[in-house]
Amino acid sequence: MKQIDFEYGGKHCQLIIFDKYKYKLRNNEVNRLKKLVNVYEIDVHSFDIINNIHSGFPESIFEYQFMERLDNEVNKINLDIDEIKKLTKEVYMKYNNQFLCNFLRIFIYPLEIDNSPDMDGVHAFTPYKNTIHFWINPNKKKWKKTFQETIFHEQSHAYLHTINKDYVEHFIKDIPLYTWMIQEGLAENYAESVTGGYIYKRGNNWFEFSRKDALDQFKLIKNRIYESREDDGNIMFGGGKYKRLTGYAIGYWLVKDYLKNTKKSIVDAHHASFKDILEGSGWLNL
Ligand SMILES: [Zn+2]
Repeated sequence: MKQIDFEYGGKHCQLIIFDKYKYKLRNNEVNRLKKLVNVYEIDVHSFDIINNIHSGFPESIFEYQFMERLDNEVNKINLDIDEIKKLTKEVYMKYNNQFLCNFLRIFIYPLEIDNSPDMDGVHAFTPYKNTIHFWINPNKKKWKKTFQETIFHEQSHAYLHTINKDYVEHFIKDIPLYTWMIQEGLAENYAESVTGGYIYKRGNNWFEFSRKDALDQFKLIKNRIYESREDDGNIMFGGGKYKRLTGYAIGYWLVKDYLKNTKKSIVDAHHASFKDILEGSGWLNL
């Protein structure tokens, strides 16, 4: 494991890279994470994040279980620390004035298993303010650009954790579906505004969804968006009768309409309430 700190243009980045990840190390790592701060047990707003290194993982969440599951697999993938440092520095220099967080702590782990083909060997999650976790399979061809763009998608979530108290309260526990879709829509529009939408932009579509496709799906689920249901994950990620990333596509196009109607910038939109974004998009009346 190596910790690397650098600062550029007043923005501080702390990389914590687990470059070699054998069975025993990973086991210890899970134990270490267990002892770290649980976001439900502290006052998240006054917590001194820079001086307390922590994962931000509550035990209940998927990513935490995901790591525990990997305990039983032998993971022989190694990460190239210098390469990750170089890729991260590159975006800090190129897009410096578009960074939302003045401090970002990025944990990076190697991941041998495949994830969805469209993610190119990059899996990421933001459990807490200023804190991002990445799982990377460097054997996948396009992981570098995907990693760079995903820094911005995740940063949108990390930023919401710092400025939006409602977001923190709702986080993970019974999050109403519309706020889940909107936070992913904010993240995708923000990432696209910085790096161009390398991962999901396909001509005039976002992934496999035109605006109309997303709106049609929204109309079908409109009656349940204020609730939190067991199968919300199917809508978000795809599953059952829902196509892959349906909820993300709805969020993407809905937030785009909100930006168009209000003429707000994507950064300003992060400061609006999710209810205002939903209403301002006009989608409830379409
Ligand atoms: Zn996201």
